[in-house]
Amino acid sequence: MPSKSELEALRKEVKEITNKIMKLIGRRLLLTKRINEIKLSMGLPIIDYEVERNLKKSVINTCKRYNVDEHFGLRILNLLIDEAVKAQNRIKSDISVIDIFVLAKKMEKEGEKVIHLEVGEPDFGPPNEVKKATYDAISKGYTHYTEPSGISSLRESIANSLSERYGIDLSFEQVAVTSGGRFSIYASILSTLSQGDEAIVIQPAWPAYIDCIKTVGGRVINVKTNLEEGWRPDIEYISNLVNNSTKLIIINYPNNPTGKVLEKKDMKALVDLAIDKNITILSDEVYSDYSFKPFNSILEFHECKSICVSSFSKSYGMTGFRIGYAVSDIENIRKISRVQALAYTSVPEFIQYAAIEALKCKKHVKRYANLIRKRIDLVCKELRKMNLSYYEPDGAFYIFPQISKSKSFDSRKFTLNLLKNKKVCVVPGITFGDYPNFIRISACKEEDLLLEGLKRIGEALR
Ligand code: PLP
Repeated sequence: MPSKSELEALRKEVKEITNKIMKLIGRRLLLTKRINEIKLSMGLPIIDYEVERNLKKSVINTCKRYNVDEHFGLRILNLLIDEAVKAQNRIKSDISVIDIFVLAKKMEKEGEKVIHLEVGEPDFGPPNEVKKATYDAISKGYTHYTEPSGISSLRESIANSLSERYGIDLSFEQVAVTSGGRFSIYASILSTLSQGDEAIVIQPAWPAYIDCIKTVGGRVINVKTNLEEGWRPDIEYISNLVNNSTKLIIINYPNNPTGKVLEKKDMKALVDLAIDKNITILSDEVYSDYSFKPFNSILEFHECKSICVSSFSKSYGMTGFRIGYAVSDIENIRKISRVQALAYTSVPEFIQYAAIEALKCKKHVKRYANLIRKRIDLVCKELRKMNLSYYEPDGAFYIFPQISKSKSFDSRKFTLNLLKNKKVCVVPGITFGDYPNFIRISACKEEDLLLEGLKRIGEALR
């Protein structure tokens, strides 16, 4: 017969164990701090996935021995590892892109003229048809809340447009209309990852993925790619990183910042891995209309659990409209819609009508893509004259040149000096991962501005 005194005794033991765990965590943090100091002094990276893999194996064995759920054990381990890495990062001081952008804005306020080669926003606005559709929608009184997932006519138009493009059969219920592609990404990550779950991010990568994963308490597993190998991810290496906690692989092709488009065979290998290990692929395809070579959407691989994210921002010059979408199975779409219902109810109704019109403007999309390609070719030509190494983009808006062969080159400092002395704003490579000797140049400006900006970059490099 359970008694009050037994309950008290059990509670006392739980308290003691909890305190012991905390004491051990404190000891663990001290040890990892020392390990990190030693690694730093030896020039070794703080994160070592091989060491982590062994640790994970031993944790799984311990979990088995003591009847602890493996997934739970791995999540706790990930939280501990993250805490140790965070403690290390506190030592570093950073200049973020926002700092650079704020400084550029301050200089402009003071009357300086800055050439903005950092922005990922086309200088052309939306087609006139879209502008007119926006005014018309407001005049007709489409100024209300809508279903969180979007009005069904827009969801249907998106489903039809993608089905036609990729030869698939999507239903409108597989589409959620969100506030930009950015919110689709956040909502997808929030609905797929629990605390301590792992998400693989292929670098260089748009920084929002990592920020979103961290915000929801997930653990980022970075997979580096490099210029020498044409930014091609090593799928076998990725497969070695996968474990029970891996829930998501995030890909972005055409890629920001490299312009890479993944070969179909690599995409297939990644998809096979995801199917085999029951992992969801989150494919950010916001630049798919700016692909200069054949592009395969994740939607073409229907056997794979996936969320495809796209947007009206880049394809139709509608950045300020804040409208994008996610495509997935109906269950995921419900989850994503619940997140947006919670955050902002729905995308404004008239914006959704404007997006329906945008989908009819395919000829403008082609025109925009041709224009960007021409500008990218121009930038590449100038970079060649400067003898810089870069990957000839297969798509997107950007060129990611290596501006020094030295890994100790500090592109943040370079970027800051470039802004202060030459009035040109670019993004330092470190923003996209461990690429301190790269910068990202955006081809979203007119040719004369691009040429002048590149001329000044050349001067700064001399
Ligand atoms: N994904 C990538 C790779 C981007 O570069 C951007 C914007 O720069 C976005 C998503 C988000 O675009 P939006 O929220 O405007 O649709």
